[in-house]
Amino acid sequence: MHGALYFDAEHYGKLENLNSCFRFRFRFVPAQHRVTEDDMTETTALSEEVQPEVKYCGRYKCPWTDWEYPNGVNFALRSLIPDEKWTDKSNIPSAEDLDCKLPVQDPDFDKLKNPPTSGVQATWIGHATVLVQLDGITVLTDPVFSDCTGPVLIGYRRYRRPACLVDKLPPINAVIISHNHYDHLDVHSVQKLNEKFGEKLVWYVPKGIKTWMESMGCGNVVELSWWEEHPDCNDQKEDVTFALTPAQHWSGRTLLDTNRSLWGSWVIKGPRHSFFFAGDTGYCDAFRQIGKKYGPFDLSAIPIGAYYPRHFMGPQHIDPKQAVDIHQDIKSKNSLGIHWGTFKLTKEYYLEPKEELERDVKKAGLSENSFVTIKHGETKTFGETETSLSNINVSS
Ligand SMILES: [Zn+2]
Repeated sequence: MHGALYFDAEHYGKLENLNSCFRFRFRFVPAQHRVTEDDMTETTALSEEVQPEVKYCGRYKCPWTDWEYPNGVNFALRSLIPDEKWTDKSNIPSAEDLDCKLPVQDPDFDKLKNPPTSGVQATWIGHATVLVQLDGITVLTDPVFSDCTGPVLIGYRRYRRPACLVDKLPPINAVIISHNHYDHLDVHSVQKLNEKFGEKLVWYVPKGIKTWMESMGCGNVVELSWWEEHPDCNDQKEDVTFALTPAQHWSGRTLLDTNRSLWGSWVIKGPRHSFFFAGDTGYCDAFRQIGKKYGPFDLSAIPIGAYYPRHFMGPQHIDPKQAVDIHQDIKSKNSLGIHWGTFKLTKEYYLEPKEELERDVKKAGLSENSFVTIKHGETKTFGETETSLSNINVSS
């Protein structure tokens, strides 16, 4: 049989730990036959109004015409050459200055244990990690609590600590994962959450990630395609639906597993409130489709950082102006800017995402409260409809 032997290596375990481990895997992939219609799997007979995921020869593809695959080698080489378009403007100051300009506070744990009955309560842990409480359930988005995430030496190190660690979290019902990049899916954080909550916790992941989650010991994993819906399977008090929706991005943890798993954004629809998590994304037409099918949302968490240099990052990461466009496309009543101020991923000034967002919200003629940023560790309730906010206890 003809084919190719592939080798994957992935670091897992605590990066600071000298006993940390690598997972090695050899795979034999038979030589490709001529591409047929079956190889180009457009997952379904979905309505013409929504863009289905596209899989080609075992790898998912971004279906939008303006998608451009990020060339990491070009990025590394161009960073060495003086060029205005590639200048590093991040200018992250000393820890003392950061404590003043970008403070991290401990969450108000009473608020987390007793979320209001009306509205969506959100606590920003940092980067894309948000604790979201609505309609009696508590959900965590893309949990990353580690100081470093990713392969040794080239992984990302955070410059702002997480607002709290896993042992301090209130009971969590579900985790939603947007994709498997290291700054969104972290081995150590998954292991800690699994140790603390075990099978009480449901992990919602895009197609192709379930096997990895199970290899981490997670027993309750729901894997979805774009537009696929799943009722909350943790037998909660109320009727909550989780749906995976598209995003313009890509996946991969090694040089060899690019786009083997899917990526996406998430919709959570409860009986009284709704939440949208945009994950990690460039701008595309999918957001209008999401707004049409699931909008409006009481709260959306939308990335606003990691966008410069624009000509390189544009296809995979939106800037604040595009975040405002998405806020409008999906008919969000309130949005929270995430994916900034925590890890240095790109080269914009470290406070620019927040400052640009404020300008872009005004330029779009929106109320300044409609799309905001909050401090690391701050808790804010969005979309309350009742004047008196009685509290309910979170189920354990
Ligand atoms: Zn990513």
